[in-house]
Amino acid sequence: MTSPFKAGYVAIVGRPNVGKSTLMNQLIHEKLAIVSPKPQTTRHRILGILTGKNYQAIFLDTPGLIKPNYLLQEAMMETVSKTMKDADLILMMLDASDIRAEDELVLQAVSQSQRPKCLLINKADKVPKLNILPIIDRFRNDAQFKEIIPISALKNDGLEVLLEQILKYLPEGVPFYPPDMVSDEPERFFVAELIREQIFMHFGDEIPYATAVQIEQFEERPGRKDFIRAVISVERSSQKGILIGKQGQALKKIGSAARVQIEQFLERPVYLQLDVRVQKKWRKDPAQVKRFGYQSK
Ligand code: GDP
Ligand code: MG
Repeated sequence: MTSPFKAGYVAIVGRPNVGKSTLMNQLIHEKLAIVSPKPQTTRHRILGILTGKNYQAIFLDTPGLIKPNYLLQEAMMETVSKTMKDADLILMMLDASDIRAEDELVLQAVSQSQRPKCLLINKADKVPKLNILPIIDRFRNDAQFKEIIPISALKNDGLEVLLEQILKYLPEGVPFYPPDMVSDEPERFFVAELIREQIFMHFGDEIPYATAVQIEQFEERPGRKDFIRAVISVERSSQKGILIGKQGQALKKIGSAARVQIEQFLERPVYLQLDVRVQKKWRKDPAQVKRFGYQSK
């Protein structure tokens, strides 16, 4: 007898930088969510679909949970709570090498939900095994967690065990998406994200957080490279200056690094043009936050 098909939604939550996006990318074998060493790289909930023979697990990567300081962050946090409501299973992630007071905030948010939950102790590769035991002990008596699983998302350790556990908690049902679909976002969303990722990689603390990227033109041209024009919005003209750099050098660097990533993702050559625009204080402006696509879904 074959086992019944299971299908459901799995939310991945945790404070910034614990490895949520890395985990989702590993689980679905595709780089969908951009990853950087800086916190708050992820601004949307990003959906990644893993379809197996008897199951479809739909992972929801979320922005890191924090106390919001401005409107963009409020919208991001609303995204997280909404995502938890939609989920059949919640995976709460910790960083084994860096347990912080901020994890409490996540714990509080998670405990509001009645959904089944697993606790993932990530970055197990970074600490001696002995250091993981006290973390497990601390949460062993917390009845809300059905399972506590140490993993390394980066090294792909423990993810098979994790997947088995996940399947236990998915409801029986038919698939929500066609088997070859990996996400619900259009190509242009990922293209904008890949540009944003390069900005996170190349600049210090101020610029990445003040930046939004929009694709204003995306043309497939038969016999020629696709033409993509992206507009990078920043909040101040000083930031625009930094982003462009001396004789446009900084922007050129971002552009060529992003183009390599985009071509890899789309599996075809593209011509990428980047423009920079100043949108004063867009992170505090409801209309702009919405226009850049950051309202909760
Ligand atoms: P998010 O903010 O929770 O989505 O975290 P990211 O997935 O963007 O990862 C934050 C940083 O932690 C990146 O530099 C990752 O490479 C790193 N990271 C994620 N998972 C692991 C892991 O299992 N082990 C180690 N050593 N680093 C990890
Ligand atoms: Mg992330």
